[in-house]
Amino acid sequence: MRLSRETIFMTTRVRFAPSPTGYLHIGSARTALFNYLFAKHTGGKFLLRIEDTDVQRSTEESTRSILDGLKWLELEHDEEIVYQSDNAPRHREIALKLLDEGKAYRDFTPKEERSGDVKAAIQERAREQKDMRDNPFRDLSKAESDAKADAGEPFAIRLKVAESGKTTFEDAVYGFQERDFSEIEDLVLLRSDGHPLYNLAVVCDDIEMRITHVIRGQDHLTNTHKQVLIYEALGVEKPTFAHLPLILAPNKGKLSKRKHGEVVSMTTYRDSGFLAAAFRNFLVLLGWSAGEEKEIYTMDELIGKFSLDHIHKNNAVFNFDANDPKHWTDDKAIWMNAEYVRTMPLEDLIPLVKAELKSAKLWRDEYDDDDKTHFEKTVDLIRERFFTLKDFSNQGRAFFSEDFDFDNAAIAKNLKKFPDLQTRLPELAGTLETVDDFTHDTLETVIKGFAEEKGVKFGVLMNGARTLLTGLAVGPSMLSVFETLGKEKTLRRLKSQVAWNQ
Ligand code: GLU
Repeated sequence: MRLSRETIFMTTRVRFAPSPTGYLHIGSARTALFNYLFAKHTGGKFLLRIEDTDVQRSTEESTRSILDGLKWLELEHDEEIVYQSDNAPRHREIALKLLDEGKAYRDFTPKEERSGDVKAAIQERAREQKDMRDNPFRDLSKAESDAKADAGEPFAIRLKVAESGKTTFEDAVYGFQERDFSEIEDLVLLRSDGHPLYNLAVVCDDIEMRITHVIRGQDHLTNTHKQVLIYEALGVEKPTFAHLPLILAPNKGKLSKRKHGEVVSMTTYRDSGFLAAAFRNFLVLLGWSAGEEKEIYTMDELIGKFSLDHIHKNNAVFNFDANDPKHWTDDKAIWMNAEYVRTMPLEDLIPLVKAELKSAKLWRDEYDDDDKTHFEKTVDLIRERFFTLKDFSNQGRAFFSEDFDFDNAAIAKNLKKFPDLQTRLPELAGTLETVDDFTHDTLETVIKGFAEEKGVKFGVLMNGARTLLTGLAVGPSMLSVFETLGKEKTLRRLKSQVAWNQ
């Protein structure tokens, strides 16, 4: 029996290997998360490799954005980051070794002939059922090939795929996979300018990094067949492969960076006030479930439960309507975030609210100091109805500033529809002036008495007060809002005519 790489290395080693040609999008973030969870579940290592060999398309800015995204999601990698371009000399060495061993050959086809649309040419060949081995340089003798190379003729190096046979591997998600050699071209390992190509680079690096499990998107399945051929040519045991279902757009089409850029970028979620923990929780359910009703998991629970055999085969859908601002993201992502905002331990939420208020210039140092208890109580009260961290500085603004806006619809519905309130609410302020114990129960007794005496419905009075005190039509229990805002602010706002004059 051959030993698996996992047994040989004693521990699992996985890697996330993004190409820095754009930001961290939802598909790659999910790949990173699954790799991370698998590594932590098995007590292994989660490595990061930046596949920056496409010099024209790779940018430092993109690398930075990927690292930022991973940092936000708290997917910390082990060991040093590997930059694939640093390994190019080693990739070349390995291509030459395969050449030496007769497992690869020099292709002297002039560049002009090769520079056409390679993909189209391969498809054309497959359509015409032409032999993929049909290359005049494939069977050149070693002496002839060496002579041409010595004479300075440029060449690419191609893998010599056998005439007949199949590549096979057992995918941890999709099961047994096979592909007939007749469907695989003699793949280029090294371009004539010495540039190693993707499949060679990935295999060499995965070997070098002692990767035991390659977990990546299903769109890499075709590459995997080619990579299996390279492992076999090198005589190296291949890792376990686990391909992940795709994440599709609502119309079941592909999510594209170009078309859905904003919607699928991690920075959008971070900057829109999503919580990393909630977004991770949302992401993990795009293609995995523990096979139970439960949907909210802490990171520790996810690490405990994650396994490759619970990854779905069916593609996931990211439900959004980029044309409708209200549906710019998946409803479930929003729901998940709201769940976290509402129920997470207050001490974990406070620092996030602090950062949000700081960036909105609403933060005051006393919130950390003399006013700490009151501040925490305020956050706890208003979070009930919030979806994102941004809500604390938007809808929650009146709790942290005197400079807040009034919603016109709220003014119409809760104030102008009941003209009486324009005198009743300042009158209520007068009555409350005498209340020293400005707390929920006392306020309830006093305000109910006031409503009865004046013949105003308690609900109408409270709705009007809500709009004067917070600018909005909805929010937490009004008596708690009075208590939280405190006597001075409550009275001042009840008397204010600003909203009435709008
Ligand atoms: N660099 C590839 C990508 O970003 C991933 C390669 C791999 O995971 O093997 O799609």
